[in-house]
Amino acid sequence: MSNKNKAQKHSFQAEVREVLKLVVNSLYSNKEIFLRELISNASDACDKLRFEALQDEALLSGDSEFNIDIEIDSEKHELIIRDNGIGMNFEEVTENIGTIAKSGTRQFLKQVSGDSDLDQKLIGRFGVGFYSSFIVADQVTVLTRRAGDEPGQGVRWSSDGAGEYEISNEDREHHGTEIILHLKEAESEFLQSWTLRSLVTRYSDHIGFPIRLREEKEDGEPGWTSINQASALWTLSKSEISDDDYQSFYKHLSHDLEDALDWTHNQVEGNHNYTNLLYIPSRAPLDIMLQRDERSGLRLYVRRVFIMDAAEQLLPHYLRFVRGVVDSDDLPLNVSRELLQENEGIRKMRAAVVKRSLDLLERMAGRGGDQYTRFWEEFGAVLKEGVVEDMSNREKIAGLLRFASTHDGNTDQRTSLEQYLERMPKDQDTIWYVTSENHRSASNSPHLEIFRKKGVEVLLMSDRIDEWMMGYFTEFQGKPFRSVAKGVVDLGGETESRDEQKDKEKTENDTLTKMTTVLGEEVSEVRASNRLTESASCLVFGEQELALHMRQMLEQAGQDLPASRPTLEVNLDHPLYKRLSESEEDSGFSDLTHLLHEQAVLSEGGQLKDPVSFVQRMNRLMLEMASVD
Ligand code: ADP
Ligand code: MG
Repeated sequence: MSNKNKAQKHSFQAEVREVLKLVVNSLYSNKEIFLRELISNASDACDKLRFEALQDEALLSGDSEFNIDIEIDSEKHELIIRDNGIGMNFEEVTENIGTIAKSGTRQFLKQVSGDSDLDQKLIGRFGVGFYSSFIVADQVTVLTRRAGDEPGQGVRWSSDGAGEYEISNEDREHHGTEIILHLKEAESEFLQSWTLRSLVTRYSDHIGFPIRLREEKEDGEPGWTSINQASALWTLSKSEISDDDYQSFYKHLSHDLEDALDWTHNQVEGNHNYTNLLYIPSRAPLDIMLQRDERSGLRLYVRRVFIMDAAEQLLPHYLRFVRGVVDSDDLPLNVSRELLQENEGIRKMRAAVVKRSLDLLERMAGRGGDQYTRFWEEFGAVLKEGVVEDMSNREKIAGLLRFASTHDGNTDQRTSLEQYLERMPKDQDTIWYVTSENHRSASNSPHLEIFRKKGVEVLLMSDRIDEWMMGYFTEFQGKPFRSVAKGVVDLGGETESRDEQKDKEKTENDTLTKMTTVLGEEVSEVRASNRLTESASCLVFGEQELALHMRQMLEQAGQDLPASRPTLEVNLDHPLYKRLSESEEDSGFSDLTHLLHEQAVLSEGGQLKDPVSFVQRMNRLMLEMASVD
């Protein structure tokens, strides 16, 4: 295609322009990350070529020493970053640079608010990669050729980052990629070798390839100096590695701007020899709850050679927030995804990754303080999936769970299940909980009234996943869980009032039956409540049934659920009930019965099937009350 030789001008997609503008504006205070991003791309490119060359050595063209080179051209005000990695062909340049193929980017744009403070926080949670060059450069040129292609298939791409880019073919003698940044006037600090040295030390010291800087040697002649350790961090012994080293390697791996919360580094020798280095980030990515098939996060190496992102093989889904590397001494270098599925060594390493990760979380939790709280806020809902997914570690995971609870009146404090058990009186044999749509409606739930009155602690659950999790999580340390909103509640004690209640129930039977008839299909039964002390009514579901808020959510998502008819419990001591039982005319009785039912639905966070009738009933009642006055 000879027309490729002429430079073609293209406009960036509108979204790309938007991302570029945001990156440049909001990351200005972290502008030096551009170097880390470009070095990281160069290192990925070397990893990829090293891996492909295992199958086809010719791809190396005799150049098997990988390097990442940095050159300064003060006269032209240019910084050049060059690698002899895999390179890109014409299509790959078009595809990878200047389009918005990455789903993460789309996701990011959906969340952008226009509020610069907020967006800045957002963008810190999202890898900006190549685009970050435009923070410091007013012109970026990419010269590249894919390993294995002919010299004539090289590519030149260039842009000022505003709206357009140019792309053309250009002869390239060597495979690999060269990025030329024409720095903005104000950014000349990046032309000083000590600045570059200190940035490389800070961010890229322990990537596995030498980073070389071209500078004047003692004899006045320019030459290359290696400016990083170029040793894969995880291969060093722990005593040689400082916390700063661990953190900067984390940032290289994860592209996170923030430090990791904690990490665990294990060199295992035995039947299988391997090393893992696992990090817990301090923030969840934007789409952590959605990413059902995220592959990145855990990198698999075999004897220091990067093989692939293998989070899928090495991490169970509920630990998908873990970042790090696993390096095996035993796997074959040409290991394929298929082989990974059934490999014994992989199974062992996966079990070890799970164990080490959970141990690390236990240590964090044991230390107490903010760190674990922070972890829990970011990833607690993800970890909960493990209770269902990972039977073999259920007890361990359960020990890591934290819940809001009614125990000291401050329902924002979180408790562990162990703490709940410690506080539990001897004669209590059940762990009580309530699930609701949000924390507020959980802690205000009418179902809690009798528990509050009797001082029985209830766990308040309001993550979406809770209702699902509790369907599988039936006991902890031999104590069964029960929802305060399901089945019959009988907390015992105060026998006298229970007998009274029974008597009352008998005399009220007629009224309750009449109410059941009025409500028809809506409920299975209306009965006197043991749960309520203040509210007039509440809905009660069967032990195996879904809570109302969950049911409605699933129905809205289009799921067909078997019909469910809850029980309506009414508080026989409530004035509204009294009024109802004394009500002479049928219409008043019917209005009040429906209202008691509708209140119960609303306080469950449910939606009314017929809000208009509800409003009419309310109005009739209010007018009636007004006329009595
Ligand atoms: P990411 O690295 O997260 O994929 P980037 O914006 O940093 O995102 O890079 C986009 C893509 O451009 C990379 O995935 C890679 O395919 C390609 N790329 C960037 N730099 C290089 C390079 N030096 N050599 C080869 N390919 C590169
Ligand atoms: Mg990148």
